[in-house]
Amino acid sequence: MNTRMYLVALLLLIIGCSTQQENPLLQEWDTPFQTPPFDEIKNEHFMPAFLEGMKAEKAEVNAIIANEAAPTFKNTIEALEKSGVLLERVSRVFNCLNEANTNDELQQISKEVAPLQTRHYDDIYLNNKLFVKLSQIYKQQGSLGLTPEQTILLENYYLRLVRKGAKLNDDDKNDLRAINEELSGLYVKFSQNHLKETNALGLIIDNEADLAGLPDGVIQAAAEMAKDRSMEGKWVFSLQRPSFTPFLINSEKRKLREILYTAYIDRGNNNDEYDNKQVVSRIAALRVSRANLLGYKTHADYTLERSMAKNRENVYSFLMQLWEPALKRAKTELKDMQALIDNEGNDFNLQAWDWWYYANKVKKEKYALDDALLTPYFKMENVRAGAFDVAGKLFGIEFVKRNDIQVYHPDVEIFEVFEADGSHLGIFYSDYYPRDGKSSGAWMDSFRDQSNMGGNFITPLVINVGNFAKPTADKPSLMTLGQVRTLFHELGHGLNWLFGNTTYSGSRDVPTDFVELPSQIMEYWAVDPAILKTYALHYETGEPIPQELIDKIENAEQFNQGFATVEYLAASFLDMDWHTLTDTTMLDVPEFEMESMAKIGLMPEIESRYQSPNFGHIFGGSSYSSGYYSYIWAEVLAADAFQAFKETDLFNKDLSASFRLNLLSMGSYDMMTQYIKFRGKQPSVDTMLKYRGLDQ
Ligand SMILES: [Zn+2]
Repeated sequence: MNTRMYLVALLLLIIGCSTQQENPLLQEWDTPFQTPPFDEIKNEHFMPAFLEGMKAEKAEVNAIIANEAAPTFKNTIEALEKSGVLLERVSRVFNCLNEANTNDELQQISKEVAPLQTRHYDDIYLNNKLFVKLSQIYKQQGSLGLTPEQTILLENYYLRLVRKGAKLNDDDKNDLRAINEELSGLYVKFSQNHLKETNALGLIIDNEADLAGLPDGVIQAAAEMAKDRSMEGKWVFSLQRPSFTPFLINSEKRKLREILYTAYIDRGNNNDEYDNKQVVSRIAALRVSRANLLGYKTHADYTLERSMAKNRENVYSFLMQLWEPALKRAKTELKDMQALIDNEGNDFNLQAWDWWYYANKVKKEKYALDDALLTPYFKMENVRAGAFDVAGKLFGIEFVKRNDIQVYHPDVEIFEVFEADGSHLGIFYSDYYPRDGKSSGAWMDSFRDQSNMGGNFITPLVINVGNFAKPTADKPSLMTLGQVRTLFHELGHGLNWLFGNTTYSGSRDVPTDFVELPSQIMEYWAVDPAILKTYALHYETGEPIPQELIDKIENAEQFNQGFATVEYLAASFLDMDWHTLTDTTMLDVPEFEMESMAKIGLMPEIESRYQSPNFGHIFGGSSYSSGYYSYIWAEVLAADAFQAFKETDLFNKDLSASFRLNLLSMGSYDMMTQYIKFRGKQPSVDTMLKYRGLDQ
């Protein structure tokens, strides 16, 4: 701890002590279902509560270590599971707010508390006395008469410590700490460079004729961006997707598309102060060193050990199974577009910067699908009711609005979720409209997880956050088809959390390549023609969506999927190639990429969705390193699982009960075994390929 931090901590500790009485985060909550009392929680309550939480957990863990009795499951593992409740509660509420409703003060607290928390957990994970106790229990596990869930919990704790380096000698532990520290610094550097490069100006237009083809809304946004940057009268496009994509789709100026596209691809690769190539190369090398220290050959071996895919060979062969059909499809798409280019009397071959523009032309011609035709049928309240209804028909649950539970913002709505037998299952918060202080995108989070230790059944508090169209004075919230999918998707994550049914919440450590199964499967119900008719009602007339529009949605489902799959898979291969390196030589990044893409035979008209210097998922932190494949892995499972319903009954009760029991209610069991229990066989990639139209 540096001096300044120490002083901040000390000061806040003192404040914390003096205001402990009034700090709602430190008290029992006598609200309905012990929901967070947001009316009373103020920014200044967090830091003292964090410090108090860390202090409490430290004391609890110390008591476990100091216990002179022989270590048992109960006095060590269960005791660990019961420790840190206060810190967990404070962190959950804080993290939810900091994502969904943040402000300068919360962001400042976040910056100050992050290093304190890292150190706090490192002190626990790298505590040798604790590890010795855990090892003793782990060695005797066969003779302890543990339930399957207890065995999993024990393994989770033991492996968590081992994977953090608990088995290493002191020298190696020091090396590991040094690597971790350097890596965390590099992640921050990568992300800051990445942000700078993405916010950079890709294109400045000062001649109105160069706006040819762009819709009014896009032109307006570009004019506003110019104004914000003191370039009034011009039009500016940045390298952020909402600015970049509409330009590539609509601009008739081929040369300008090339300029903007090239700037996008080159983010982090401009040999300037924000260049990420050295950062990437160093991260990759450090990851090899760390893997070696921990006894693994490669970083992928280390991360994949706890995944459904299990090892790198399985990931590569899985990706290869999809690669050939996707590439074949993309080449057909290219042919269609080249024909269009030729028919228009042009004399050039389609290049990467032309793809969006011509794909959109084909889309208009072939499918005549326009979002503006659909949105009147997707009023938020109807869509949400439709999603609740699907969950109700599948699992017998019911969502009932509550107005007596405190919220952190007036846009938040609350539902109590009931089981079929009328018993309470949990609380569901929905927070769907954009505002300052909310991150972009959509996600699920929870204020509290389910557990059932010693007969004390704790029910979950789940939250879905989105950034859908906000209602105006004369119009309700009308959603695009993409947003409709997102609402169903996030509810799927929510159901996964609501249905948690384990003794210990610590046994539900869901593998990364499973997480998106419960969410992606809900998207299939969302757009199924039979289901669409039930909830997609015109917001003015109440008429259900006409068959003609449903047909259009169905036809357009497979549009451009060759391209989408190829650019995604290329990035997945690149991720795997970086993380199956075995030596720590600093590599030349462009050369490495070129070889990686040549190996799979990527077509020149499509680039990987990310280039290494702007691949934030894998270099801006560690969460998706050698895990970028997970999205499509889970999509294969989701499609295969949905097909079981499709072939029998969309609301097949036996299937939904088995889906809930085997896949949604538990988390760190061997999820492939669990999946086979549900499906009766191994998942096959065929259904996903068919859904994406890659099977022809
Ligand atoms: Zn998701």
